[in-house]
Amino acid sequence: MGARGNRTVTTPTAYEEPVLLTGLKPLLDQAEANGCFNGDQLDIEKVVEYVSSTNPTEPLRLEYVVMEPATSGSLTYKEGVWVIKVNKQQNIRRQRFTIAHELGHYMMHRNKSESFTDEVFFRTEKKDIIEYRANEFASQLLMPDLRVRKAIADGERNLGKLAERFNVSSAAMKVKVQELGFKLKQNE
Ligand SMILES: [Zn+2]
Repeated sequence: MGARGNRTVTTPTAYEEPVLLTGLKPLLDQAEANGCFNGDQLDIEKVVEYVSSTNPTEPLRLEYVVMEPATSGSLTYKEGVWVIKVNKQQNIRRQRFTIAHELGHYMMHRNKSESFTDEVFFRTEKKDIIEYRANEFASQLLMPDLRVRKAIADGERNLGKLAERFNVSSAAMKVKVQELGFKLKQNE
């Protein structure tokens, strides 16, 4: 394990219960029930469609556009429609996280503002609680704790491969496995 000098996942330590995020658990249940997971990879576009279909008065649309390089995405309300824009020039794993993050804003914060614009995310920063929650939401949606724990229990202990399995960035997966109480060590 730990080929090519990747970090490896080792001994589990403490485990903290995840923060309760509005609407996340039922959404994950629906995603499971509706076949939105291919292996451990969530079809985030399908989830957006599902969420939109369940909120006919506030439909949600997804657009891939060119944005400022520092901007990952946005969520805006215009003429009866919520639109998630994602910077199509960023890599696919970042795009997926961005979509999940904006979906989090839609689910949790759309009564607070009609416009959210997001730059590159640093999940460990807790300065802005709304952004922190949206990142938590995205993390839980794309990397459900149970699935990540199962993947590790099944023997997948390489961070890069875990990230690939869930189609998320290694940085996002690193934070996740640390949150779950697994220690990482350099394998060089
Ligand atoms: Zn945000």
